[in-house]
Amino acid sequence: MSSAISLAALLANNPLAHGLRKLVGAGSQAPRAYRLINVELKQRIDLSPCLARLVFGGEDVAHVRTLAPDQRIKLLFPAADGCPPDLPREGDWHAARRKLPAAQQPPMRTYTIRALRAEPAELDVDFVLHGVSGPASRWATHAKVGDRLQMAVPNKAFSGDPGGYEWQPPAGIRKVLLIGDETALPAIAGILEDLMEYPVPPDVQAFIEVPHESDCLALRHNHQTRLSWLPRDVLGAAHGEALMHAARELAELPAPSRPPRRPKPREQADDLRPWDSATPSDNGFYAWIAGESGTVMKIRRHLIDERGLERRNLALMGYWRQGRSLE
Ligand SMILES: Cc1cc2nc3c(=O)[nH]c(=O)nc-3n(C[C@H](O)[C@H](O)[C@H](O)COP(=O)(O)OP(=O)(O)OC[C@H]3O[C@@H](n4cnc5c(N)ncnc54)[C@H](O)[C@@H]3O)c2cc1C
Repeated sequence: MSSAISLAALLANNPLAHGLRKLVGAGSQAPRAYRLINVELKQRIDLSPCLARLVFGGEDVAHVRTLAPDQRIKLLFPAADGCPPDLPREGDWHAARRKLPAAQQPPMRTYTIRALRAEPAELDVDFVLHGVSGPASRWATHAKVGDRLQMAVPNKAFSGDPGGYEWQPPAGIRKVLLIGDETALPAIAGILEDLMEYPVPPDVQAFIEVPHESDCLALRHNHQTRLSWLPRDVLGAAHGEALMHAARELAELPAPSRPPRRPKPREQADDLRPWDSATPSDNGFYAWIAGESGTVMKIRRHLIDERGLERRNLALMGYWRQGRSLE
């Protein structure tokens, strides 16, 4: 059974809190790091039976900026009464949302900017269609051209760094490991494209787990990149199993920085949404890992406790949680 976790609880309990506060625009200074915009669905491109690219347009898209291929945004969906979100774009939209009766409160979920174009002003989001149990996937499944949403996005008028991204490999990075499930596919696809711009391409190994063989998309990447698709239907694997196998058996990892150790009790705790930013001290190795929270926690334990990797070289993000609804 799914249960909704309030944003306030998430902010209070989670290391992602600082970034989320920026995302929801808390505070009153203008221009803010993130702002609320109105968008309209311009085009729908079915990438595979489980993945749809929704192209959003509208005047407000001109106010968006993106700083990294995993730039996260908040999407606001029609409330239980069926009305499209209509929160005030100026002022504290988050407070305005909280004051609405439950049936009128637009549900909010986190997504990745897959692409942002200036002319015409368009923003692409790739949605995993996992069914109709959640407001985001349900909306994306039925969305038609002309349907309206609101989004909290990095504000072009804000001159500082708005945050909301984790892909920050050190300059001259030599070895990169990417691990993710279908929700991380949009970010990994963008990261692989980003890596094509590097003057000296690092050694890259990437593992992407997807529901079906038909979800293995033709991604652009350096020809040296070793990209492994892990389709669950072909492998007969449950969600996360193939990624865990890849982390254990297939990933070429640097030599351990210290002997393996037994996990401390805190690391065995059931984090709702694990979130570790990487803070590498050199350019030797950088890993970016995102997907279902339970899987990400298992991979974290394996890489750090059993393989002796430095925590600071790993960006680990729980993108969703089996059986829960997270904003
Ligand atoms: C930084 C970040 C970036 C993200 N980027 C993307 C993105 O670009 N594209 C994308 O599709 N998702 C992305 N996600 C994941 C997305 O936010 C979640 O999948 C979200 O839960 C979907 O909301 P929902 O309303 O469909 O389902 P919810 O109401 O949140 O959940 C309803 C039920 O569905 C389950 N569920 C949720 N997601 C999935 C899934 N993918 N597969 C199977 N079951 C699921 C839940 O466990 C729950 O039981 C991102 C998450 C984060 C934190």
